[in-house]
Amino acid sequence: MVCKQKQHNNFLDEVGFECGDGWYKIIWELFERLEPLVAESEAEGPFEVLQVKQKMGGLRVHLSRNNAAIKEAIQVAQERSVITCELCGEPGFLDCENDWYQTLCTLCREQIQNQAVR
Ligand SMILES: [Zn+2]
Repeated sequence: MVCKQKQHNNFLDEVGFECGDGWYKIIWELFERLEPLVAESEAEGPFEVLQVKQKMGGLRVHLSRNNAAIKEAIQVAQERSVITCELCGEPGFLDCENDWYQTLCTLCREQIQNQAVR
């Protein structure tokens, strides 16, 4: 079964997300913004979402097509991702813990630290 939310956005159907649920809204809005941009640049070749993941605590989106407008939309999503908790979507901050960069809110960070101690 295809989930209802995904039905009207075909870009997202086949992509595996390698990041937390907290960024879902950012990713969703990014692709809503990309849809008309992609339609406009149809002549530039096939459009494919290659990868959506977390790297160095920020959202990374790799697409098969890039132009200035698409890059700008991705940039905005990246900037939002480093101030949004990757796990729950609340306001968060980027920090490095044991060489692992992650953007989390205070609560999620505490929970992870508690788990690590156990
Ligand atoms: Zn959180």
